[in-house]
Amino acid sequence: MSELVIRNLHVRVGDKEILKGLDLTLPQGEVHAIMGPNGTGKSTLAYTLMGHPNYEVTEGEVIFKGQNILELPPEERAHLGIFLAFQYPVAIPGVSLANFLRAAINAKRKALNPDDEGIPIAEFRKLLMDKMRLLNMDPSFAGRYLNDGFSGGEKKRAEILQMAMLEPEIAILDETDSGLDIDALRIVSEGVNALRGPDLGVLVITHYQRILRYIQPDKVHIMMDGRIVESGGPELAEHLEEHGYDWLRERVGA
Ligand code: ADP
Ligand code: MG
Repeated sequence: MSELVIRNLHVRVGDKEILKGLDLTLPQGEVHAIMGPNGTGKSTLAYTLMGHPNYEVTEGEVIFKGQNILELPPEERAHLGIFLAFQYPVAIPGVSLANFLRAAINAKRKALNPDDEGIPIAEFRKLLMDKMRLLNMDPSFAGRYLNDGFSGGEKKRAEILQMAMLEPEIAILDETDSGLDIDALRIVSEGVNALRGPDLGVLVITHYQRILRYIQPDKVHIMMDGRIVESGGPELAEHLEEHGYDWLRERVGA
């Protein structure tokens, strides 16, 4: 059983410290949500975990399978079993979603075994069909060019399918703070619910309590001013919905 352990994480963007000693443990097999007001550093955490070059780690570590993943380039984090959903996925016209997924699977296989010759096409097709059925997706969707003219909901669907195909042990999903329509929200939630199980840990980063009506998290963490200031069960999200964040402000001296 693997877990992702974030310890005393400090991150700067330019000369501004955004994450100020964040601690969090995400066990495989659990779904955790991070909630918090705008500007609190939620997306900074997601980008840092992805290895975005603008986010400078000044202190702390993120341990997975005995390694500090902050020392690894993004693709090696993925090969280790961590899936990081992109908030704004790029379009690749001319490359079908199926081909993209096959390339992603093969890159991972190759990283784990340099002699690997790639997933046989029949096996790939079967895996793709199985996962699309599990996620209630129309098989024709896999033939579309990646993100080319995709709606917000379709981008989310492609992202969830990618997660299903790569079978990560830890998945980190950052939700857009605005414009995440109810359709996209539903797609993400249904996908997470279909894929959740003992082999997958999920961290859902969200501005909205709303998503938690669709995903029942095992734990909820509240982030303010670059730190986790409160953790609890799903009832914490309900408390937030009713009372907002004000009752927590004194904890960060804001
Ligand atoms: P959240 O996702 O919780 O709304 P963010 O992580 O996006 O918060 O932002 C936290 C703070 O970091 C904000 O004050 C934001 O202005 C700043 N910030 C984030 N990314 C950048 C960036 N690339 N350049 C400059 N400032 C940034
Ligand atoms: Mg954000």
